[in-house]
Amino acid sequence: MAFPTRMFIDGEWRDAVSGNSMPTTNPANGETLAEVALGDAADVNAAVQAARRAFDSGPWPRMDALERGAILRRMADAIERRLEELARTDTLDAGKPINDTRAVDIPVAKVLFESYAGLSDKICGKCFGAQPDNVSIQIREPMGVIGAIVPWNFPFTNAAIKVAPALACGNCVVLKPSELTPLSALMLGEIAHEAGLPPGVLNIVTGLGADAGQALAAHKGVDKISFTGRMETGQSIMRAAAEHMAGVMLELGGKTPNIVFDDAPFDHAVNGVLTGIFFNAGQVCVSASRLLVQKDRCEEFVGALVAKASKLRVGNPMDERTQIGCIGVRSHLETIENYVRRGMDEGARLRIGGCRPESAELAKGCYFMPTIFDKVVSCMTIAQEEIFGPVLAVIPFEDEDDALRLANDSDYGLKASVWTRDVIRAMRMARGLKAGRIDVNGGGNLRANLPVFGYKKSGVGAELGFDEAAHEYTNSKTVLISMSEEKIPWPDA
Ligand code: NAD
Repeated sequence: MAFPTRMFIDGEWRDAVSGNSMPTTNPANGETLAEVALGDAADVNAAVQAARRAFDSGPWPRMDALERGAILRRMADAIERRLEELARTDTLDAGKPINDTRAVDIPVAKVLFESYAGLSDKICGKCFGAQPDNVSIQIREPMGVIGAIVPWNFPFTNAAIKVAPALACGNCVVLKPSELTPLSALMLGEIAHEAGLPPGVLNIVTGLGADAGQALAAHKGVDKISFTGRMETGQSIMRAAAEHMAGVMLELGGKTPNIVFDDAPFDHAVNGVLTGIFFNAGQVCVSASRLLVQKDRCEEFVGALVAKASKLRVGNPMDERTQIGCIGVRSHLETIENYVRRGMDEGARLRIGGCRPESAELAKGCYFMPTIFDKVVSCMTIAQEEIFGPVLAVIPFEDEDDALRLANDSDYGLKASVWTRDVIRAMRMARGLKAGRIDVNGGGNLRANLPVFGYKKSGVGAELGFDEAAHEYTNSKTVLISMSEEKIPWPDA
């Protein structure tokens, strides 16, 4: 496959100012897929200036919102046409199973552009009329230049989650994809160009986080940084943005608990727990890496999980039979191994996995076997830290109060899942859980109209949603109009 390798700035394809490039590799075999421009502060500056010009004097924020929507809809159509190519790109670049990129990553991105195309002409303010001689209105205006920084676990989807609503609200964007998975984001530049997005409205800079990413967060020409990634990176971005008082929206890590009560629909819950932890090899912000099971069913439940997990097919992501693909990067594979060692050292019992696959065929790739620990205590490292890999920590609980205490015993609060047939109990749990999203008995798929909030260290602000997107990506201006004929009182000298 041929991939775009140059940056997309001001509607043009450019090499890095320094002339440097970086390799992006296939985690399934370590081979280089492409040499991509290695952007740094100079390229970020060029991209922000292009976005600034496009915002301050270009047509995008000023055009009829319906026309903006039509361009976003054309981007959705182009994504659909290029679905197979985009799916293969993310599978090769990120090691995600091809079935997932075809059925989830790329179709979700397409739907996001489609949904937000419909938002562009529906953004509105409010009218306040409590006083007889005054009318006050709130107007929502595009915010300006949005710096979007995204991670490697869902390369194309994460780019779409940021770019689609920011553009729909009339902003210009500088997107920095992860250095580990830059290819499909560059293809988004091709799609934008093809759909007729004016130059400078979407700019894509590839480069390292500590260099291009940090320069984007610190750039004075950026009005808001919308970031998805690790909590520690979010903190550093917040500090850089504070220097020039830019807004931040941060979507960070998680340690989702799956809470299974003794009346849960058993088989349904088993499948839900397996998907919760092993989808995308656990490299998902909402990955349900803690399982809390009511004590009297714990042994039976873990037995069923282990039996099914042992049949999961770990393998080449391009193979349609593969259920668990790669860990995105080799250094992260070693991090996961360290967590497994910590789990054993701290006294948890390893029930399955805990190692790389034995198959010689997979030896060159970044693979890790589905891993389940039981007899975990909530203070253990594997129950507290985000592992971002296929490692499940099982903790038994006594009753509802105990379940709630354990579930909330985390620095994170992105999501929690409850499995019970008792709807009143489910609602009590939903009220007590400190998380931005609660799924009951499997919940449902995330859609553009459902906002995602992070409690505690899982984030600042909201991703997705319609009202929330309008709130995050527009400025509010209040206009107060006096209808009074009376003179404004002034003490005449
Ligand atoms: P990361 O924080 O290492 O990198 C994310 C992005 O930030 C990359 O583009 C990277 O180049 C850039 N970056 C790194 N250092 C930077 C710096 N100092 N300044 C500016 N930019 C910098 O995260 P990752 O390892 O790529 O992704 C995994 C993390 O993302 C996990 O913690 C996961 O939970 C989180 N995540 C969260 C959500 C969510 O919606 N809450 C979704 C997906 C992933």
